[in-house]
Amino acid sequence: MKLTFLGTRGEIEAQTRRHRMHTSLLVLHRAARVMIDCGLDWLGKLKRVDPNAIVLTHAHPDHAWGLKRGAPCPVYAPQKTWQELQLYPIKDRHLIEERTGTKICGITFEAFPVEHSIRSPAVGYRVSAGRARIFYAPDLIFIDDRSAALKGVQIYIGDGATITRTFIRRRGKALIGHSPVRTQLTWCQKEGVHRAIITHCGSEIVTGDERKIFASLCAIAAEHGVDVRIAYDGMTVAL
Ligand SMILES: [Zn+2]
Ligand SMILES: [Zn+2]
Repeated sequence: MKLTFLGTRGEIEAQTRRHRMHTSLLVLHRAARVMIDCGLDWLGKLKRVDPNAIVLTHAHPDHAWGLKRGAPCPVYAPQKTWQELQLYPIKDRHLIEERTGTKICGITFEAFPVEHSIRSPAVGYRVSAGRARIFYAPDLIFIDDRSAALKGVQIYIGDGATITRTFIRRRGKALIGHSPVRTQLTWCQKEGVHRAIITHCGSEIVTGDERKIFASLCAIAAEHGVDVRIAYDGMTVAL
């Protein structure tokens, strides 16, 4: 399996060369190219990505609005995401059942519900092909069934909206927002995942001194026995 971080910018105004495009991951396996998420930045720019399929985590603008004029390939999403995208002119729609492996172009995607938004419920994906296994959750407060999601995972790819501050709001009984990277690294430690890559970068990373932030992140990660990297647009990883 090979990964290309097509975009690493979260739902923020700021943009830099390293974090220009809305968060999206291209998963490559043999000849297959499957794109996870397609935010507004990708509108009209899919030709150069040339995906065989697109998989969506949720319907927020920075994850799905690039499809508002349709898609050049099949699109896979959970029911709750399709409900919000009803009016999009996407012809080839496929349903992803949560907690069931769905094979897409030879790559298995299993959706795990994550807490993040009430109006646009989100999932994270456990993605496996051959012996490679990753978990990808660009927006989340927590994973409902974290142990199952992270079992045997080689790389946790998580939400960089915030490093140490809390972006969590209460709405009635539910929580919305993003967990800090610091918290996500504790999950990796608890579930025995030794590598983490941070994407969906927030303003702390995008407008801050990334070298300094990376250094402090490495210190936090080392305490948890995790090797951490901050993804940038165009970064590739081979598993
Ligand atoms: Zn987002
Ligand atoms: Zn979101």
